[in-house]
Amino acid sequence: MKKQDAGSGKQAVKSGNSCSLPPALCFQDALVITSAEFITSAARPDQYPRDESPEVAFAGRSNVGKSALINCLIQRKKLVRTSRTPGRTQLINFFKINGSFMFVDLPGYGYAKVSQSLRASWGPMIETYLDSRENLRGIVQIMDLRHLPTPDDISLWSWLKEKKIPAIPILTKADKLSRTKWNPLVQTAGRILGISPDDFIVFSAQTQHGRNELLGRVKEFILQSGFNRGKN
Ligand code: GDP
Repeated sequence: MKKQDAGSGKQAVKSGNSCSLPPALCFQDALVITSAEFITSAARPDQYPRDESPEVAFAGRSNVGKSALINCLIQRKKLVRTSRTPGRTQLINFFKINGSFMFVDLPGYGYAKVSQSLRASWGPMIETYLDSRENLRGIVQIMDLRHLPTPDDISLWSWLKEKKIPAIPILTKADKLSRTKWNPLVQTAGRILGISPDDFIVFSAQTQHGRNELLGRVKEFILQSGFNRGKN
């Protein structure tokens, strides 16, 4: 959790000096989202978009506020369906942003089962995506500031670290608590996940707190050419 931050995404964010990517990806300033378009839903790799755009995926337990967070980033109320919509898909949803990179909405994991492995708790569909998708640059893992990270949250976080997949931890719904309560909760979540409190972004889809900081971190992901999965 770093400096206070709310709003429009118009503040300057430092960018890298050299850029070997297509011009659309070499933006100098803040990541300003100008367009967002649903591309497809997929369960299996052969259904993923045949596209080389960098991807940032969003994960969290059902009802944590993942749809609201993505809609807040792209400043659209309903592009990503919220859990109030009946028949919400359990597939992996791909959205093209600014015509140049993808946001990937992963199905929410359940409340019910406390499980030892990601495979048991969340399903091979997501594990296959995270494990094999070359376009993947990083994950935004969304948790609820008000509650301790759940066993499934801890299991996903440890699995991402084990697989060396870059991840941004988010603590959302911050507007539901007074600011004096934020810091102790961030510290506790950090102890549970084994990370520095500074690494978290405290977020609110309602007030847009944390939006600029998250856009800056997402931009860093997109500008990377990939990450080393630790495989030979
Ligand atoms: P998802 O299942 O993770 O996609 O969760 P949703 O985005 O559908 O959010 C679940 C519920 O939490 C909805 O009623 C949202 O309006 C609410 N919600 C999500 N994010 C926030 C937030 O930052 N602040 C507040 N107050 N409510 C939120």
